[in-house]
Amino acid sequence: MSVRENVENVRKRISAAAKRANRNESEITLIGVSKTKPVELIKEGVDCGICELGENRVQEVLEKYDKIENVRWHLIGHLQKNKVKYIVDKAELIHSVDSLELAKEIDKQAKKIGKVQKILLEINISGEESKFGITPAEAIPLCGEISRFENIKAEGLMTMAPKEAAEVELRRIFGGLKKLSEEIRSRQIPGIDMRELSMGMSGDYEIAVEEGATMVRVGTGIFGAR
Ligand SMILES: *Cc1c(COP(=O)(O)O)cnc(C)c1O
Repeated sequence: MSVRENVENVRKRISAAAKRANRNESEITLIGVSKTKPVELIKEGVDCGICELGENRVQEVLEKYDKIENVRWHLIGHLQKNKVKYIVDKAELIHSVDSLELAKEIDKQAKKIGKVQKILLEINISGEESKFGITPAEAIPLCGEISRFENIKAEGLMTMAPKEAAEVELRRIFGGLKKLSEEIRSRQIPGIDMRELSMGMSGDYEIAVEEGATMVRVGTGIFGAR
């Protein structure tokens, strides 16, 4: 299938999942995950209206940044502190903040360029050891700390589900992320805005939409297998 057919298919499925959950599809942002894919192929997606691109490595954003216009870049992969300075001027949203030290460095680098960097906190809901992200219990204390940073705005939460998870497990994870965001929102912490839930990939985005995702990150389903 072509990228165009893939994009149409994914949009249709998002729309149907939104309907099943009595949601408006306009609440859901489709992020095309372009990691490992060449610029020409990514541009086919952009021509089909994909204007949010997700990458998980800083280096790859730097390589593609000048070659693809009219898109916003999302850093969705684990971010090392020493790479922050290369990405703050380019990232619309950093989805993978998982420590106070990383947040501190983002605040520092954003301040240097006069930017307020939007971020999400990455939460490891499933408890998988191999996954990055903080535990749900760590989220509220971390929000309290981040609240003090003037050059960071926390817009929500992000999670990744295990690849082989069954549907009940996926619903537990995605539903758990939503509940956590509601709990954080109820605390009304200054500078912590819980509007976004970044959850769902090619294999599970429809379930994520049913469970309240506002951003889905779809790579394979748009650009093909890696
Ligand atoms: C690669 C990746 C995706 C997209 O994965 P697909 O299964 O190809 O859709 C989404 N989120 C993160 C964090 C990723 O690293």
